[in-house]
Amino acid sequence: MSSYTKHQIADLIEGRAPWTTVHRMLSMPKDADRFRLYLEVLQDKASFDTRIILPLGPHLHIVQTRDKAWVTMCECGHNFGDCDENWKLNALVYVRDTEEAMAEVYPRLMAPDPAWQVYREYYCPTCGVMHDVEAPTPWYPVVHDFEPDIETFYRDWVKLPVPERA
Ligand SMILES: [Zn+2]
Repeated sequence: MSSYTKHQIADLIEGRAPWTTVHRMLSMPKDADRFRLYLEVLQDKASFDTRIILPLGPHLHIVQTRDKAWVTMCECGHNFGDCDENWKLNALVYVRDTEEAMAEVYPRLMAPDPAWQVYREYYCPTCGVMHDVEAPTPWYPVVHDFEPDIETFYRDWVKLPVPERA
């Protein structure tokens, strides 16, 4: 099993690692320290000083606030609320539900029929970064993508102390 430096993990995250290195890093079993180093790199990049406990996307994380709450937070520091709630309900939403709106994304005649499928784009209300896009039928409820069991992940998978939670 290989072991990688924090610098190599940062190169992987930033897309600077050569393809042969990326392939080796992704296809081999993860070294025991990988998640801890990954969090360190993300924490160094973050504009906030709250502790990242689980990344959800390139710019979105579950963090532990100073008062030990676990919340979903944009990398700009915008708080989307308790991590057990669906952060999308506190995001700005743009719904592409017309042919004109679909034409901004797809060439003519290659877009989905908005009577059958719409795009919902979720943005941070503070910095405007796009966090997610879902493509449901028009009537479908907002999708709650991920309900992680953070305690089990820390205890049984990455073998790190479970962060405190108020
Ligand atoms: Zn933001």
